[in-house]
Amino acid sequence: MFNLDTQKNLNILIQGIVQGVGFRPFVYRLAHECYLTGWVNNSAQGVHIELAGQETDIQTFLKRLLDEKPSHATITNIHSSWVARREYDDFTIRHSDNTGDKSAFIMPDLAICPDCLQDILDPNNRRYRYPFTNCTHCGPRYSIIHALPYDRIRTSMWHFKMCDACLMEYRNPLDRRFHAQPNACPACGPQIALWDCEGNTIALEDDALLFAADAIKQGQIVAFKGLGGFQLLVDARKKSAVQRLRELKKRPDKPFALMFPTLDMARSCCDVGLSESSVLQSSAAPIVLLKCTNPSLIADNVAPNNPYLGVMLPYTPLHVLLMQELNFPIVATSGNLSDEPICIDEYEALEHLATIADVFLVHNRPIERPVDDSIVQFVDGELQILRRARGYAPLSLELTDTLPTTLAVGSHLKNTVAITHNDQLFLSQHIGDLNNTKTNDVFLQEIDDFKRLYDLTPEQIVHDLHPDYLSTQYAQKTGLACYAVQHHVAHVLAGMLDNRIDDAVLGVAWDGSGYGTDNMIWGGEWFVVHDSTVERVAYLSPFALPGGDSAIREPRRSAMGALYAIYGENLFEDYDVPLFRTFTKNERDVLKMMLDKHINTPLTTSMGRLFDVVASILNLCQVSTFEGQAARTVEYKAMKSNSTENYTFSFEDSVLDWRPMIQQVVRDRIDRVSSATIARQFHNTLADMIVRVAGSVGEEKVLLTGGCFQNRLLTEIANKRLRQAGFTPYWHHRIPPNDGGIAVGQIMAVTHQIKLKERVVCA
Ligand code: ZN
Ligand code: ZN
Ligand code: FE
Repeated sequence: MFNLDTQKNLNILIQGIVQGVGFRPFVYRLAHECYLTGWVNNSAQGVHIELAGQETDIQTFLKRLLDEKPSHATITNIHSSWVARREYDDFTIRHSDNTGDKSAFIMPDLAICPDCLQDILDPNNRRYRYPFTNCTHCGPRYSIIHALPYDRIRTSMWHFKMCDACLMEYRNPLDRRFHAQPNACPACGPQIALWDCEGNTIALEDDALLFAADAIKQGQIVAFKGLGGFQLLVDARKKSAVQRLRELKKRPDKPFALMFPTLDMARSCCDVGLSESSVLQSSAAPIVLLKCTNPSLIADNVAPNNPYLGVMLPYTPLHVLLMQELNFPIVATSGNLSDEPICIDEYEALEHLATIADVFLVHNRPIERPVDDSIVQFVDGELQILRRARGYAPLSLELTDTLPTTLAVGSHLKNTVAITHNDQLFLSQHIGDLNNTKTNDVFLQEIDDFKRLYDLTPEQIVHDLHPDYLSTQYAQKTGLACYAVQHHVAHVLAGMLDNRIDDAVLGVAWDGSGYGTDNMIWGGEWFVVHDSTVERVAYLSPFALPGGDSAIREPRRSAMGALYAIYGENLFEDYDVPLFRTFTKNERDVLKMMLDKHINTPLTTSMGRLFDVVASILNLCQVSTFEGQAARTVEYKAMKSNSTENYTFSFEDSVLDWRPMIQQVVRDRIDRVSSATIARQFHNTLADMIVRVAGSVGEEKVLLTGGCFQNRLLTEIANKRLRQAGFTPYWHHRIPPNDGGIAVGQIMAVTHQIKLKERVVCA
């Protein structure tokens, strides 16, 4: 018998990743099992529950809620309060409440789950071979949502009317598809079609899939409308097909990502450890950089001169079905033209990809926003996200303080944007390099989209210190209060949030370039962060970049600038290294004149450029076709040596003088020391530079950040040497070390009102 006196009502708000993961059906079942009545609904703030019943039963419910929550759910906050007694006949799932603050978290897109995989492979199942099968444990989320809360009506599935069978599943709290918003079946859901380059339909449904598979088997290029945008697919074993894709896509050297039909086949080609296989098979299903162990299985132009392959497994039912037909690895690269944004609409794709693709495998489920494939690697055995997109975006992070709604517009390359709401930060997916008008349009769309999605109106805006960045110019045109944050300070602050460091740290920020407070191009910087103050404690001795921006594309120009900083005018008489021969006599004369007279030779402290210098001296890369190419050639060369030797350098008055090191590199090159040994000793020396500065500063925590620390070898050597010297190294995990993390650092700078010693960073 109930004692009515102990009957109570508890109101609960649960926040975190709790929508689109089967949370409400779980709450429904749990409430029934605990003999409780009341209701649950989705709101824009999270999941709301009211429980009515015995207090002990309510306590049991709360304990089991935490212990048994759905596997994809992450609870960040639970607010609960006893409320006035009210009686309910039953426990029910109520309609979503879309009023009030929009602070709910949005789920990333999830790879197909084992149950749905079984459904599409079972000839007796009504979803046999149906490419849009999903449930509350898997399927599209971020790529289809256009407003909060997450309900079918506010997704791109709204115009597909569920059939009776689907509706039954959708309404049955005990079904896996209960309130699965994109729920669909062959009778009522989206369908695929195969188009030619003019948009004429060649085949429908299963035939479309089989024809597309045939096209790939014949070496053709298929434009494939995937989850978050188009991909270009081609047989990864056929060198001529891969070459044709390279030429048409105007991408001569940059590695292509691969999709393998199965984990076993990936294993036959690459080194797949336990952590690698678990992330490959995770619901994020990213591209994982794996060491290639059997290069003969893949055409050598997929990832030229690269010891790693970017590998993913099929993550949608459509990919699964296609790969089952093929049973061989394919190149699966973003459906775009060189640096343009990834296409999401089939008509837009026809326009942009018609010169590349032979056929188009399309479908009629609209994609709300471009969500590219994510890229990850393992550094010192731990996961590091290099490109945060499908499966990981959007990211929500908790800040230590509440601040007015703030928009951060990120950097120029690998742009992402971030927006805050109270003490929450939401980081967008990877948008791309803001180099052309098309990516710039996507950048503007993404900001509008992000504001609309979370229903937030920024009160202030934070941008990079660089006056010429499109993102800076956008910020300044908004008319809102603007704050500029120095690029490398933003890198350090992003790394601090990633590692939850809130006290003092030495931040080592090394990358290609960022605008310094002295108008120089920074990129080899050491900062001490302490009590909201940042001090630039060390930097590389500056050298000239003849030609400015064109030096970024031509490592040989950086090399000329660096060698000029060592040898001065004599450089042009005494030395005959290969890089000199890549210039004509006339070009050399012009370079000499520029360096002598300081014409168009901006100064830089960039470590990325110093990598270029070594790549050029070792004749590994004189002219690059994609960002970071030259630095990678040095890293890959260094992987072939085990040398533990170092070059020398000096450190005085905050200036790290690298010139003795480069002189030794030149001498070793002339003495025919192997390039691998030289490259390895260069890496060792850089790690020593970090330890030397750390020793002089005396902070125990050392954070490695910036694009240079995508270099796994460098990070691992630095970690090791730092530990040996008694320091604790930190590096990036969830937030990319590259410019994809800048927006986070910008928000952090505003949150903590960070000041660069005697010079305001946040101005
Ligand atoms: Zn599923
Ligand atoms: Zn249906
Ligand atoms: Fe950077």
